[in-house]
Amino acid sequence: MKSKLLIVEDEKALRETLAYNLTNEGYEVEICADGISALEVARKTSFDLIMLDIMLPGMDGFEVCRVLRTEMNTPILMLTARDDEIDRVVGLEVGADDYIVKPFSMRELIARVKAMLRRVRIMREEATIIQTPEPSSKEILQFGDLAIDTIRREVRMRNKNLELQPKEYELLYFLAINRGRAMSRDKILEDVWGWDYVGESRTVDVHIRWLRQKIETDPANPARLVTVRGSGYRFEG
Ligand code: CA
Repeated sequence: MKSKLLIVEDEKALRETLAYNLTNEGYEVEICADGISALEVARKTSFDLIMLDIMLPGMDGFEVCRVLRTEMNTPILMLTARDDEIDRVVGLEVGADDYIVKPFSMRELIARVKAMLRRVRIMREEATIIQTPEPSSKEILQFGDLAIDTIRREVRMRNKNLELQPKEYELLYFLAINRGRAMSRDKILEDVWGWDYVGESRTVDVHIRWLRQKIETDPANPARLVTVRGSGYRFEG
């Protein structure tokens, strides 16, 4: 079955180039030129991925993403024009799953789309496996006052649920099951994001920063998510 993509981009030339190339890749593509109609279309049809530009007439991409997040789990790839938008894009406030910085090549974009769709597929399969009842002490990973509930995919601190984005959960889970081991940014990208190429390691740093805000007593001096100089990160429990 063809994966269905929604492209939200007000620049006609870019919108049509995206639609043309992604259709050629075998995807079913719908297009929108503004945020309001994107919301309407996304509510009517179930998409596998939504590609969302930030600067849109009427309602901007940040706002559209925020609304979509409250209504559906569809993965959202933001098309950003500026570096300083990245923090907001993946932060809790907006909550996109991933971003790509303009200008990008079609090859780059298609690789990203494929990686995101593959990741969703794997997660769905994992979710199905996890739902089969098989009681085990490994269901909840406990690290002091921090608990990772792998069945409910929830994280609790002092018995209070933390609001984590799906990617933040996956990142924390990945580091936690590799506790005490230094994980390079590339390895993290490969395992958590499913990217089979290097680069964009800033994504990892941004997510670590957000996670630290949530699970560290003193985010400026992290005791759990430790930076490994010149390499990546290590979970200390
Ligand atoms: Ca735009």
